[in-house]
Amino acid sequence: MMSRILNTEVVVPVIERLVKKACCELNDNVMEAFRSACEQEESVLGKETIQILIENGEYAKREQMACCHDTGAAVVIMEIGQNVAWEGKPLKEQVNEGVRQGYEKGNLRKSMVADPLERVNTNDNTPAILHTEIVEGDTVTITVMPKGGGSENMGAFKTLLPGQGIQGVKDFVLEVVKRVGGNPCPPYIIGIGVGGTMDKCAVMAKKALIRPIGKRNAKPLYAELEKEILDAVNNTGIGPLGMGGRITALDVHIDYYPCHITALPVAVNFQCNAARQATETI
Ligand code: SF4
Repeated sequence: MMSRILNTEVVVPVIERLVKKACCELNDNVMEAFRSACEQEESVLGKETIQILIENGEYAKREQMACCHDTGAAVVIMEIGQNVAWEGKPLKEQVNEGVRQGYEKGNLRKSMVADPLERVNTNDNTPAILHTEIVEGDTVTITVMPKGGGSENMGAFKTLLPGQGIQGVKDFVLEVVKRVGGNPCPPYIIGIGVGGTMDKCAVMAKKALIRPIGKRNAKPLYAELEKEILDAVNNTGIGPLGMGGRITALDVHIDYYPCHITALPVAVNFQCNAARQATETI
């Protein structure tokens, strides 16, 4: 098959657009989940809190303003068809250019420091946290997921013993949820990676957050576990923004991968109520 030749510069306007869209417009799936959570929430304060989140989401979209002051680290996930051949400047540079222009033109807060110990702001929110995956076909799907510090900082990883099994996964996730309380700005989505190696597991937890709210894992074992963890999290009483109530999580998404016989890696990644993401395919 002939390669489809793309100049890397094509990603710049796409990423610029996706950054601005993601930061200012919570997608319909998230807004719908808020509305349904508001109906289900039993606590008065919890209900009021979700109502404020709905109004905030509507306002941000209407005024094209960031729905949260923390416009996050720019996580960029690219699924690149194996029949695409790139020409032009390095892809990574162009991804960063798209992020730079998106944050600048969208008047979005710049939150990246160049060195984690020296702590000097890069002032343009670069570099992106770029994940690439080679897939079938000749298209490129780009997802931008701005990831705020409050939720990202609460993530956790642990390698369990294989014998700890399903119960071990549940116990670990619940232990993390109770420890972090209202810090990840609930109602949140929990992305869980099970299996792989430490690095693979963490990326799975992050990518699990892309899945639409309400969509279960295709494998019944994991679909059931998602439902059980969701119920358990919503019985902790943490509630919207930690105010107390039933709706702590909007959903739980698990992705899994084969792993070594000696290990059962589990990663937990939170996506706060500012559950921002936008996707386009080139
Ligand atoms: S955790 Fe999310 S909602 Fe809370 S301050 Fe950070 S970006 Fe905003």
